[in-house]
Amino acid sequence: MPDQPAHMSPEEFRRHGHAAIDWIADYWASLDDLPVRSQAAPGDVRRLLPASAPEQAEPFDAVLADLDRVVVPGLTHWQHPRFFAYFPANSSPAAILGDLVSSGIGAQGMLWATSPAVTEVEQVVLDWFAEALGLPDAFHSDGPGGGVIQDTASTATFTALLAALHRASGGGVRRHGVGDAGWRVYGSTQAHSSLVKAAMMAGLGEDAVRTIDVDPATQAMDVDALRAAIVEDAAAGLRPVLVHVAAGSTSTGAMDDIAAVAAVAREGDVWVHVDAAWAGVAAVCPEHRAHLAGVEAADSFVTNPHKWLLTTFDCSTFWVRDRAALTGALSILPEYLRNAATESGDVVDYRDWHPQLGRRFRAVKLWAVLRTYGLEGLRAHVRSGVELARRVADLVAADDRFELVTEPSLSLVVFRLRAGDEATMAAMEAVNASGEAYLSHTTVEGRAAIRVAVGSWRTTPADVDRTWRALQEAASAPG
Ligand SMILES: *Cc1c(COP(=O)(O)O)cnc(C)c1O
Repeated sequence: MPDQPAHMSPEEFRRHGHAAIDWIADYWASLDDLPVRSQAAPGDVRRLLPASAPEQAEPFDAVLADLDRVVVPGLTHWQHPRFFAYFPANSSPAAILGDLVSSGIGAQGMLWATSPAVTEVEQVVLDWFAEALGLPDAFHSDGPGGGVIQDTASTATFTALLAALHRASGGGVRRHGVGDAGWRVYGSTQAHSSLVKAAMMAGLGEDAVRTIDVDPATQAMDVDALRAAIVEDAAAGLRPVLVHVAAGSTSTGAMDDIAAVAAVAREGDVWVHVDAAWAGVAAVCPEHRAHLAGVEAADSFVTNPHKWLLTTFDCSTFWVRDRAALTGALSILPEYLRNAATESGDVVDYRDWHPQLGRRFRAVKLWAVLRTYGLEGLRAHVRSGVELARRVADLVAADDRFELVTEPSLSLVVFRLRAGDEATMAAMEAVNASGEAYLSHTTVEGRAAIRVAVGSWRTTPADVDRTWRALQEAASAPG
């Protein structure tokens, strides 16, 4: 018999496991003193790593030691209290422990039969979460709809498009492909780039995406322009199939009017997909639900607990009103996956709800977050982000070198220096280079703007004030 590899003994596993958790806790405690954006140059991390894997086993302690030596200097610290770039990718202690448990269980939940708990916990957690967000009953799993955890909003949007194509083609697309039917997809100029990517992946091509203008003041979709575009395309023999609604755009947090878009879409039997990747979770607070008005008319909806809502990446919650369109587009049953539960029709097999077959037990981390924070705790988290964004907006308004570009949207504030694009970008870059804080930029109506996306779980008012002082200093520095 060949030598057996030396697995960690249960005792070693406990010891190293405790050390790994200690490492995470120490890492968090050290963040305040680290530069938020990594200062590594290309190749700096690679240079510290050997060219080949070790032949001889090393202790796990050696891996932990290299986290500090090799990895940390090459990290941009997304859990840093002064990380304000892009949108947050919040972790939380509860989510991490949930994720760890999921890894320990190591179940592959492709079918109900491959671990009933993986499917049923996910269904219940998504029903809970739909209710907590005030989403329509039609999205609950006890009717024709239901929810599923996808890896990302990009995958959810791609999946929505596949379901829309299935419905519009009466199943033709799954048999014959998209062909040259002239499928058209609509989104505003502010729609997330994952919409164009979805059209590319579905074989429609990027030219199939028709971009609709926005109101310059709000950056929300011009719904009259949408109606005109759909009518024009239909008259030209093209096939409008899906409208993407931005419920919180990435650039400025702009909110398209879901009800108005849905009314237009209904005239042409066009699928309405609401992309609330960032802003959707705010709806745990009844007072932060206005942007979802009209969602009961949507065919599908996605929001990412892995952004603002304390659930370690990846966790993107996606619901459909009619799961038959989804499974119609994606179900496939090779002989080796045949089983009695599937044949009975009494169970959901989540492998029919997304592109891939295999799936992790991601529901555990969301379950842990919902239970250990409670909806009250989650509301408090969202409210503190909105309040801190208010504080940023007040600071902007109080310094006449700066101006708001759009009204603050939930926890996102977009502003610029009145002195112009160059000054705006230089001030932001100076703050980022200093390591004090990390901000990102966008352009609005062709002009540069700074985005401050609050909502990290570790951010305090003092962090906002410290970041603002750094920006003010950068704005006064001679260009
Ligand atoms: C972040 C974001 C996405 C993409 O999210 P992933 O989960 O990383 O794919 C899509 N849409 C909007 C509006 C976003 O803010």
